[in-house]
Amino acid sequence: MRVAPDRIYLSPPHLSGEEAVLVADAIASNWITSLGPHVHEFESEFVQATGSGHALALSSGTAALHLALQLVGVGRGDDVLVSTLTFAASVNPIRYLGATPVLVDAEAASWNLDPGLVTEELERRARAGARMPRAVVAVHLYGQSADLQPLLATCERHDVPLIEDAAEALGALYQGRQPGVFGKAGVFSFNGNKIITTSGGGMLVSEDTRFIEHARKLATQARDPAPHYEHSEVGYNYRMSNLLAAVGRGQLRVLEERVAARRANFEYYRTSLAGVPGVEFMPDAGWGRHTRWLTAITVDPDRFGMDREQLRLVFEEENIETRPVWKPMHLQPVFLGCPSLGGATAERLFERGLCLPSGSNLSDADRARIVGVIARAAAAAPVAARATRRGAA
Ligand SMILES: *Cc1c(COP(=O)(O)O)cnc(C)c1O
Repeated sequence: MRVAPDRIYLSPPHLSGEEAVLVADAIASNWITSLGPHVHEFESEFVQATGSGHALALSSGTAALHLALQLVGVGRGDDVLVSTLTFAASVNPIRYLGATPVLVDAEAASWNLDPGLVTEELERRARAGARMPRAVVAVHLYGQSADLQPLLATCERHDVPLIEDAAEALGALYQGRQPGVFGKAGVFSFNGNKIITTSGGGMLVSEDTRFIEHARKLATQARDPAPHYEHSEVGYNYRMSNLLAAVGRGQLRVLEERVAARRANFEYYRTSLAGVPGVEFMPDAGWGRHTRWLTAITVDPDRFGMDREQLRLVFEEENIETRPVWKPMHLQPVFLGCPSLGGATAERLFERGLCLPSGSNLSDADRARIVGVIARAAAAAPVAARATRRGAA
């Protein structure tokens, strides 16, 4: 019997070695809860690293998005336009607030929110004198920015705030700047699988001082300034602890190296799989830096000889974790009743898309093992597929 080789994970944490020193400092100082010096330092270092105006460290990216939506006024009965091709955390907070997500298709060029569909919808509503959406949420998928310029222009024209879900895109660039800093507010995540991690955590950024100060208050149980506990609005317990902020500082110091390592994974895959029929990569839209947080491929079953799910199962047999591209939100049972705009592009990407192991700590041997699996799967493709390939050649 063959002994299964060690498991290769999709995107595991990758410590820098500096975290332990910073965490030891937090422990020695007895600041291990929320509101300690590392939280403050992490926020200001994050502002520096991203070129954002102000930053607020929170317990998760989901919490950051919840606060952002609430603070632009999203509430019961409102519509919010949001990408359908994303993780459920982009959409759930819209529902926390009693609002309705309008699920918008991706564009093939970037796999992100289609600015044409957003513009059409805002113009249609404006012409009809219909209620405008209270916000637009653009998600920057797998390390690549959405096309922000046309989105900002259309949002500005119709006076609808743009919120950026940059949870997957820390370290990316759009026209030279970090996506997440363009809209009214930007949201980042330090969940365990993200490009840097605090085990769990998030960051809310905005140019608007009062916006961030109000978010800071809401995140701290909405305590009014008074010697006793005084509350005039409903708050949350959403702050990041000082201990986790210490981890985040150690991670932020190596962000550029992490981006370089993930991009190197992608280059390796691209070069090694260049000759494999039916395998293509998530496109680089060319408007900035794609971090390749995850390297995503599409598998054309007619040309490759098996479909995405069959290939995923082959990987699983080899003890390698891969993951289908996000199942679009308009296909999720929980959001079936929500209105949607288009959706065919996102559906096709879900059917064919697979994320390959992309950790910044993948070894050369790991990468060779992964490419070997695809090469063998392609070689073992059914005769019919090979015949089609010859026919096509
Ligand atoms: C990870 C992620 C989030 C949520 O972040 P958490 O910190 O896990 O709450 C939101 N949106 C997208 C697109 C994500 O990938």
